[in-house]
Amino acid sequence: MADPLYPPHLALDPDWTADTVVVQAGRPVRTAGAPMNPSISLSSTYVHDASLEYGRDGNVGWGALEEALGVLDGGRAVAFASGLAAATAIADLVPPGGTVVLSSVTYFGVRNVFERMQARGRLHVRMVQADDTAAVLAAADGADMVWVESIANPLIVVADVPAIAAGARERGAITVVDATFATPLRQRPLHLGADIVLHSATKLIGGHSDLLLGAAVCRDDAHAAFLATHRHDHGSIPGALEAFLALRGLRTLAVRLDRAEASAAEIARRLVAHPGVAAVHYPGLPDDPQHERASRVLPQGPGPMLSFEVAGTVEQTEAVLSRLRLWTHATSLGGVESLIERRARYAGDAAVVGPTLCRASVGIEDVEDLWADLDGALREILG
Ligand code: PLP
Repeated sequence: MADPLYPPHLALDPDWTADTVVVQAGRPVRTAGAPMNPSISLSSTYVHDASLEYGRDGNVGWGALEEALGVLDGGRAVAFASGLAAATAIADLVPPGGTVVLSSVTYFGVRNVFERMQARGRLHVRMVQADDTAAVLAAADGADMVWVESIANPLIVVADVPAIAAGARERGAITVVDATFATPLRQRPLHLGADIVLHSATKLIGGHSDLLLGAAVCRDDAHAAFLATHRHDHGSIPGALEAFLALRGLRTLAVRLDRAEASAAEIARRLVAHPGVAAVHYPGLPDDPQHERASRVLPQGPGPMLSFEVAGTVEQTEAVLSRLRLWTHATSLGGVESLIERRARYAGDAAVVGPTLCRASVGIEDVEDLWADLDGALREILG
């Protein structure tokens, strides 16, 4: 009998590239009259006597999304209500009293999860800089988990994931990589030796700023089983509609990413020469200190996120952001529309970034329109 959660999906040709797999993975098998897309199954309960009894047990739409993300990353995917729900479940893999090595440049929501667990006595946190591989590995001695975000928020830090994962494994720790900014099309951490990859599909995978969803993709089936049980017990399940939309967003990820990344690289190059800008953080720039590592670890490109520091005051920076008409002054990232924000307005980021640092999520609008808006605002406010 077919598994109601994982009905047969389309077989994929092992020679297809990831850009093709994002379009095809997780579709129903091609039998006569079969739909092109998985259905949106809106039911909280199911007729008794099958593995699927209740809405928290699973949903055919999550199954399709998990199938697709699992194939892309090369592991077993477990979808969650949000990226943070997935992160919280992964954090629970650290044994009671155990230790996690965490980068100080990490999405502050994830840092909060670990710091609050530490405050409750649940685990110990060792803070490091993820781009200092030797420091990460020194801290990994006796640790249970090494958590790196790469590419990382909000300074666009690239970690040497292969070296960290290999070193952590030697020391008996598992490596978790938050690859939200990179997506499976720019970095496949399980192939680089990591144990679990986290995606906030809210961002680039969904791609339209219209859903929240997270996923963990695991090398080890036992980790995936733990996470699925955690999701069930905590009720951190994705909605059926969100799962459908995330999979629909995934279909266009390759083209969105190519365009947004090319625009980000162009905007970063122009910002470097801009009199209103004091520094640009984008590993795609030849002069960026991370350029060598980025081209080795992310050979296909560093994605569409960049940040820059305005050569002015906090007030001037806020004025630039309010003057923008095409870019939206808003948090989050990875949608088709370009977003920008001053990160130090969050207490969690004020400690790690300068007061005028703006994080930009470049969308798929025309790059010249984006540049005209940004350049115009910088010139108007900074003279
Ligand atoms: N990881 C990164 C790198 C993020 O930027 C975010 C959200 O901003 C998360 C995880 C959390 O994801 P979500 O907002 O889907 O809970």
